[in-house]
Amino acid sequence: MLEISSRQRKIISIVKNNQPITSERIADTLNLSRAALRSDLAVLTMAGILNAKPKVGYVYTGKTSASSIIAYLQNTKIKDIKAEATVVDENTSIYDAIVNLFLEDVGTLFIVKDGFLTGVVSRKDLLKSAMGNTDINRVPVGIVMTRMPNIVTVYDDSTVIEAAKKILEREVDSLPVVEKIKDKSGTENYRVVGKVSKTTITKFFVKLCDMVEGKHEDK
Ligand code: ADP
Repeated sequence: MLEISSRQRKIISIVKNNQPITSERIADTLNLSRAALRSDLAVLTMAGILNAKPKVGYVYTGKTSASSIIAYLQNTKIKDIKAEATVVDENTSIYDAIVNLFLEDVGTLFIVKDGFLTGVVSRKDLLKSAMGNTDINRVPVGIVMTRMPNIVTVYDDSTVIEAAKKILEREVDSLPVVEKIKDKSGTENYRVVGKVSKTTITKFFVKLCDMVEGKHEDK
């Protein structure tokens, strides 16, 4: 399968913005020799992404090949699309957790103890506790959260499709992106380094469609 390298992506973007452009000028822009560029240009021309017009230079055809879409899907990792996670301590009151939901404009809070992930609390978890007889000013959020080890997580190098499947299968809105850390006793802990939510995945989908329409070649 044809995979588009990051250099080929750069070439596409240069051609798109300066077309028609000669291979000399592309080489100059990239600080490469023409010889080094030749195989990339051959690949891009064969794939139908660029067109070589004799005596004029290269032009962009506006076509994104199916293989470059597949490569983009496979190569995009969670670290490329993740968002910032809103993290609060287990001892935070339910009231303050709700305030955080509004302040940070999020639907899910990731709960930590000593900096490590211990749970997740959602909008409905908080609504439920606010509707009951719970003293939300006193009771800590740790009491109403979903606890480890039942938290569904992903890593920086997980794929987007892996995260999307987990969100659907586990029927949740958001997943913490975690880093596994072993302490001296060998116990595994998880540090939260971001989140992937339905919004994150939707943004990725829109970006993918932009790429197909040729609005967005350079990532
Ligand atoms: P809401 O409850 O507001 O509809 P979710 O669908 O995300 O939001 O949450 C459903 C339930 O799953 C809640 O009880 C929540 O604590 C829990 N939950 C949310 N995210 C995760 C996750 N990543 N892993 C495990 N449980 C989760």
